[in-house]
Amino acid sequence: MKHIDLIIVGGGPIGIACGLEAKKKNIDYLILEKGPIVNSLFNYPVNMQFFSSSEKLEIDGIPFISNEAKPKRNEALEYYRRIVTSNDLSINLFEEVITVNKQDKDFHVTTNKEQYIATYVIIATGFYDIPNTINVSGEELPKVSHYYKDPHFYAKQKIAVIGASNSAVDAALECYRKGAEVTLLVRGSEIGKRVKYWVRPDIDNRIAEGSIKAFYNVTITEILPQSISIHTPEGDFSLANDYVLALTGYKPNFKFLKKIGINLSEDEKLYPQYNEQTMESNIANLYLAGVICGGMDTHIWFIENSRIHAKIILNNIISKK
Ligand SMILES: Cc1cc2nc3c(=O)[nH]c(=O)nc-3n(C[C@H](O)[C@H](O)[C@H](O)COP(=O)(O)OP(=O)(O)OC[C@H]3O[C@@H](n4cnc5c(N)ncnc54)[C@H](O)[C@@H]3O)c2cc1C
Repeated sequence: MKHIDLIIVGGGPIGIACGLEAKKKNIDYLILEKGPIVNSLFNYPVNMQFFSSSEKLEIDGIPFISNEAKPKRNEALEYYRRIVTSNDLSINLFEEVITVNKQDKDFHVTTNKEQYIATYVIIATGFYDIPNTINVSGEELPKVSHYYKDPHFYAKQKIAVIGASNSAVDAALECYRKGAEVTLLVRGSEIGKRVKYWVRPDIDNRIAEGSIKAFYNVTITEILPQSISIHTPEGDFSLANDYVLALTGYKPNFKFLKKIGINLSEDEKLYPQYNEQTMESNIANLYLAGVICGGMDTHIWFIENSRIHAKIILNNIISKK
């Protein structure tokens, strides 16, 4: 078994920030990433534009230069990839961590390829792997997706977009502009309050003029191969439908966190337990970083405000050495 001082689980922006900080502090570290570099960002919609301006996504002050103030997905892939390659970060890609077990003082980390022993572990596994399902008959049909990639696919198709937050609104607008017939199905009484302020007028106006149809206070009752059935306060409707984009958010892998032994709050938020001063979890020498720290509230922590986790954690590790 290989012994490594620090294993970082997850090669997203925050896992990479932790690796960079470990390297600067001369700590023997290894990042284990189950996909390519910044796997979540790689899987985001091809045309997505960050709501943060590029300097707010920078790690360790390394300049992030983008064409517009707010960078696009491709520019972010370029930025984080260059950080990994230019700094020769120690990262194993396509290596998934299956278990992390504490035995005496050390952690035994088992992946789909190897076994390691580590003194410290950082969990930075993000939130994009597990969608929030709507639990309705027909959700398993191939025409239903919880991920949106490219609007071209939906040209001249009747699509239902479920959701009212940024992902749903962006997808609805893009697909409408590429010739899809879009219906937005909103569970609440209005478009989400966190929708980007510069996008909000666009969606409001498209709905007002009828270019995008919207139903509010909707419960989806059934999805069939050629239709979708909804219940609304105005009555029940069956809408002709080719594709459903259920963009109802994502959640951290709580099963994985529980298996490791991390305490989660008993309410529906499932907040993981950690010390805010050090980011250390209820397990000594095991730290949490990035979006997972918010439990089901995946909007609390994002790149902008969680990149500081790297310095906090590595300072704490150094103080223990
Ligand atoms: C459409 C969209 C737009 C966004 N725009 C912004 C923005 O403008 N500004 C901003 O600050 N934030 C934004 N966010 C949020 C931001 O992308 C996330 O908060 C951020 O990616 C969190 O970084 P992370 O490193 O914690 O997690 P992630 O980026 O999700 O990285 C976690 C990594 O862990 C890997 N992993 C998971 N499980 C394992 C395992 N068992 N073994 C090995 N590897 C594993 C995953 O493959 C992934 O690469 C946006 C999110 C979305 C969906």
